Amino acid sequence: MEDHQTYKKTLLARLAELDTRLHRIESELDAPKSKDWEESAVEREDDEVLEQLGQGGQEEVARIRAALKRMREGTFGVCVRCGEQISDERLEVLPDTPFCRVCAAEL
Ligand SMILES: [Zn+2]
Repeated sequence: MEDHQTYKKTLLARLAELDTRLHRIESELDAPKSKDWEESAVEREDDEVLEQLGQGGQEEVARIRAALKRMREGTFGVCVRCGEQISDERLEVLPDTPFCRVCAAEL
């Protein structure tokens, strides 16, 4: 079995970073709102941006968790769609990708 320690390290570091960021976003969304109308309009816009960031972050967390699970199961680096080996060049850039380049382009 291949050694994916480097990818695992990258994924775990990214996961920790996202976790911190998502917690910060959550606490900002929970922060009490000001009563001033104009200010709260700006805050609402900020909240939307934060929510989008939060959503993107959560999707990334899910992708990373799935990649770590594939590592445990020994299927990491294999495209979940066609079963081909995903190139190292691709994994170095996108260690959490479940797809080879061909499948990613087709989806
Ligand atoms: Zn594929």
